[in-house]
Amino acid sequence: MSRYSPVAAILLAAAIFLFDTLTQFDVAIAVLYVAVVLLSVNFTGRRGTLAVAAICIGLTLLSFGVTHGTDMSSGPVARCLVSLAAIAITTGLALRLAATIAITGESERRYRTIFRATGVAILEMDFSALKARLEAKRSDGLGSIEEIASRDPGFVREALGLMKLVNANDTTFSTFRVPDLDIFRARLPSLIPREMESSILLLLDAIWQGRSHFEAEGIMDAIDGKRLNILYTVAMPTDRKALDLVLVSIMDVTARREAENGLHQAQKELAHVSRVATLGELTVSIAHEVNQPLAGVVTNGEAGLRWLKRPEPDLGEVTASIERMIADARRASEVIKRLRALSSKATPQPTLVDINDLVQDTLTLVQREIASQHVALRLSLADGLGRISGDRVQLQQVIINLIVNAIQAMGAMPVGARQLAILTRASEDGVALEIADSGPGFAPADEARLFAAFFTTKPEGMGMGLSICRSIVEAHGGRLRASARPAGGASFEFHLPADKEAA
Ligand code: ADP
Repeated sequence: MSRYSPVAAILLAAAIFLFDTLTQFDVAIAVLYVAVVLLSVNFTGRRGTLAVAAICIGLTLLSFGVTHGTDMSSGPVARCLVSLAAIAITTGLALRLAATIAITGESERRYRTIFRATGVAILEMDFSALKARLEAKRSDGLGSIEEIASRDPGFVREALGLMKLVNANDTTFSTFRVPDLDIFRARLPSLIPREMESSILLLLDAIWQGRSHFEAEGIMDAIDGKRLNILYTVAMPTDRKALDLVLVSIMDVTARREAENGLHQAQKELAHVSRVATLGELTVSIAHEVNQPLAGVVTNGEAGLRWLKRPEPDLGEVTASIERMIADARRASEVIKRLRALSSKATPQPTLVDINDLVQDTLTLVQREIASQHVALRLSLADGLGRISGDRVQLQQVIINLIVNAIQAMGAMPVGARQLAILTRASEDGVALEIADSGPGFAPADEARLFAAFFTTKPEGMGMGLSICRSIVEAHGGRLRASARPAGGASFEFHLPADKEAA
């Protein structure tokens, strides 16, 4: 906008007025006022433009009055009306144009603000060369990106070279630690490592399919070599078929990933600590479990020796004693193996698990505890249950935790009133396991809190058991619920989905 525009408009209006008033041509000179109105749009707002239009109309009428007085002959009146109509129409159009320009300017300003100030790296890119290359491949009869890539392994790199960077915001420079746009443009292909190529292939497929949006996770390198975990989206406006304006936004999620990994590691450590703590509580029971078969080995060994030392050794009995010794030794080593698995930090190993077997196995570790606390056990294991896919050790840990909790909860009940029921049954999409006790139960208000980490009502409690149990069950695609039993006591029940292939 020139600052001379108002002066130019006034001079132009004055010139038109004088010309219109002082000359006697048979043309609608006042039509030229539209130029004044159009000029005014440049230096004034809506009201100003309306005022200028009103002045132009006033001047037109004044000229008409001065030149023609009350002479209402049709020619001059028609010319005057044409001029007035032209001024009115132009004013209307000019105002609409100004409004549109204002809106566009505002959205452009908003876009620029977002572009500059956002914490996300935004790249304006031109994919038209890439698009043309893909179209050429299509005309050559190639049917998909996979086909192109399998025929030409270097295609992804070639495609990266065809993605032209037009502009990038400041966050881009700080994310990739580059000083300016030119260096970033030159280095961009080298910041995309080989491991990222499979993700780029999916992006190429999205372009091939004509999709308008693509989102994926990936990795890129900063210019100083630091590896970045990124989340990136690519917006390809469908109204620009040539893909000459593509917006790529890149979010650096490295710190978040590291925090997640740290959290995961901490959770694993905590699960391990809690598992070892549970084992500590069960030491007496476990020692007995190992001791019993060892005592069996000794007894059977002695018996075997006695049969051998007879004047006429009974080799049949000796064989039977040795077989019992082997069986006992096997049992002891089984228990130790299970214990070692339970206290190890091994990563989860999914296998097909028969839930009834798992319950039986787990009971060997807690049986002694059940007996020493005078708990009556009712076991009800349903036949024909489908197997589930899961990590035996983790699921065993859940069952041990629930049983130990139940035994502890019943500690204050009189002997004879301590009942533990373990039931398995088919649930709608898999198997359910319920562990119910006849202890004091819990207040309904505590139901949700039970599973919260560090919630405990025990003086020595850690409050981690149930929270870990729930995460293990949920990681297996199942759910774990607690309910207060109507007759008193608590019931914990988990459902696990059956393995589809094993079913
Ligand atoms: P901790 O055993 O260390 O307290 P848990 O997460 O295993 O941690 O249990 C949290 C709390 O849930 C327990 O302190 C107890 O108040 C309650 N709870 C767990 N199992 C039972 C149960 N069978 N009956 C009643 N309350 C229970």
